[in-house]
Amino acid sequence: MVVGVLVEISNQNVDRIFEYSVPSSLRDSIKIGIRVLVPFGRMTLEGFVLEIKDEKETDKELREVLSVVDQEVVLNQELLELGKRMKEITLSSLISCFQVMLPKSLKAKNGKKTSIKYDTYYQLSPEYSEFSFKGKQLEIVELLKKRKSVLRKELVEISSSSVDTLLKKGVLVSFVQEHYRKSYQHDSGCKTILTEEQQAVVSKVIEHPNQNFLLYGVTGSGKTEVYMEIIDYYLSLGKTSIVLVPEISLTPQMVERFEKRFGNRIAAIHSGLSDGEKFDEWRRIYRGEASIVIGARSAIFAPLSNIGVIIIDEEHSDSYKQSDPSPRYHARDIAFLRAKTHQASVVMGSATPSLESMARAQKGIYTYLELLHRVNGRSLPKVSIVDMNEESHGKNRMFSKSLLDSIDVRLKKKEQVILLLNRRGYSTFISCKNCGFTFKCPHCDITLTYHKSSNTLRCHYCGFGEKVYDSCPKCHEKSIHNFGIGTEKIEEELHQLFPSSRILRMDFDTTSRKGKHEEMISSFKNLEYDILLGTQMVAKGLDFPNVTLVGVINADTSLNIPDFRSSENTFSLLNQVAGRSGRSDKSGEVIIQTFNPLHYAIHLTKYHDYFSFYQKEMTIRQQLKYPPYYYLCNIRMSGKDPSYLREESVKIKNSLDRNLDSVIILGPSSASVFKLNNIYRYQILLKYKKESIIYSILIKIMDHYQSNSKIRIDIDFNPSQML
Ligand code: ADP
Ligand code: ZN
Repeated sequence: MVVGVLVEISNQNVDRIFEYSVPSSLRDSIKIGIRVLVPFGRMTLEGFVLEIKDEKETDKELREVLSVVDQEVVLNQELLELGKRMKEITLSSLISCFQVMLPKSLKAKNGKKTSIKYDTYYQLSPEYSEFSFKGKQLEIVELLKKRKSVLRKELVEISSSSVDTLLKKGVLVSFVQEHYRKSYQHDSGCKTILTEEQQAVVSKVIEHPNQNFLLYGVTGSGKTEVYMEIIDYYLSLGKTSIVLVPEISLTPQMVERFEKRFGNRIAAIHSGLSDGEKFDEWRRIYRGEASIVIGARSAIFAPLSNIGVIIIDEEHSDSYKQSDPSPRYHARDIAFLRAKTHQASVVMGSATPSLESMARAQKGIYTYLELLHRVNGRSLPKVSIVDMNEESHGKNRMFSKSLLDSIDVRLKKKEQVILLLNRRGYSTFISCKNCGFTFKCPHCDITLTYHKSSNTLRCHYCGFGEKVYDSCPKCHEKSIHNFGIGTEKIEEELHQLFPSSRILRMDFDTTSRKGKHEEMISSFKNLEYDILLGTQMVAKGLDFPNVTLVGVINADTSLNIPDFRSSENTFSLLNQVAGRSGRSDKSGEVIIQTFNPLHYAIHLTKYHDYFSFYQKEMTIRQQLKYPPYYYLCNIRMSGKDPSYLREESVKIKNSLDRNLDSVIILGPSSASVFKLNNIYRYQILLKYKKESIIYSILIKIMDHYQSNSKIRIDIDFNPSQML
């Protein structure tokens, strides 16, 4: 027996299948998709068995497979096929496609293994009736009569020596059972009675299996209930479901609702789990012990069989696109591939669908569904826009008078406030007032952000940090000042303005510890704080009934990012955060501060007018030849020597020009962050109408540079960000 094994060689983005012979002792356990250990040069590597043959193809002596890593196949037939398809559409290596499907502890590397944990249980042996017991021994026997089998730990707590005696007598027999690290809730079976609007959406989905749906639903329209109802229907048919959410740690409330309804049929995969816990969840899914998987992007690869529906919540979120490292896939595309295999449906929901998806819905490629009302007739919050050009004459660049007044009113009424500023740190940059010197990251082409709590300057791209100087390194004057505002500065200001209010800051810096995020959300919900201040983390799917005011400190931060999606992202962020206000019986309001009050992305938020925004933005995309009218592909050339890179980039551009007639080719230009982590970056952008024509030339270019260590080529289809 000979096997073809796909191995990962260091971090090169190459696929290599090597032949190995299989010793007779391992023959029974070798299967396609199982992991094995193989010798490779002087190393031992892990790899996936992709081929099983009777005879070798080469004349060379083959080396032997050393051992089989798992008891079970980790990549089933469907996932093996999916990986091959993914490689084709993303132009990444097959091994990287397989790796991204597996939890960390199952990736084929030569790292350490996560163990399966076992628990020891005891039962009574049939002979127990021949003995008589008293005291602690009797207590143990009675317990076992009642419960059949009991965890060793529990019995030892009664009396460790009695357990030993009973074992010696042969009264107890032990057995082991796998121990999952996480504890599971039992379902309450509680169900909400759906509104007519919700029911209509559910009916349409379940009456038309094997279709793709786009659900436009305003914030608070009860999309989650709709998802659960659809899933319940598929459960009743014996089918499984996947629910994708943008960032699962940001949506503990949603997971909680699912766990309440479906109990231990849920497997939730999120970054808060340890590697061991993820491994356990993965195996529960693999064995069919869980039928609903909820998780972020990579949960789309959950090894479920018989999938009935795949839900993509907040479908517009860019977190569904993996940007780095490769494979640069979009979870939505993978969802369509899996749905096709399983003849399942895909339901994509959002209050601000991506332009791509809405355009497809309008063309009839997706079936369009809508929820236009909040449940129980609650109205959408009233939004007002404050022109900060006028306010800033009064010296206050942080808070307008109307926002301050409203915060005051809400605090007096014991209602809660959410404030959004999409920029962490204290100030946006720091510079010398005397000579104009600005502090930049030595590794990246970007200004450093001042963090007051740690008194450091930090790079938000590579993580570089240094202590703050009190005089300018260039002119030596003591005239260092900070400009712009971040969440830290707002927090400080709030403490001065509202000294008796309790303020909670939630951003990347305050939530880095595991579990911190969930803790903050529940303490805010339990009314332990009055004001929740933070970055876009505060905008996502949270449901706090007592929040009646949402304030946006500066709506322009996301508008000023040089990206063709900046208007779309701004509109979507403002709508999301506005949707956090007035979700229960108290009516809510939203105040948006901006220096661009007339910009359509901001102005239309006032009317919650997604459709006008969509029309306006579509016109602009058409004029500028951007998605959804054109596809985009970004080719990035990176390396340490900028002039060599520049030369090669021009060569690449010329060869594209010669080969691609109908494609718009832009560049090479320096990436918007030219230097990142000491690596220089150029890019070429392709805009095209037909997908098929560019692949072969791109493959040629990649092959050409494959072994060139001075330049690295990365290809990103439908890039979500082009830093
Ligand atoms: P969305 O995801 O559309 O923003 P949610 O699903 O979070 O909305 O629902 C908003 C709130 O309304 C939640 O508190 C939810 O429990 C409640 N809700 C949803 N559907 C119903 C219903 N049919 N009857 C009563 N309450 C509902
Ligand atoms: Zn840096």
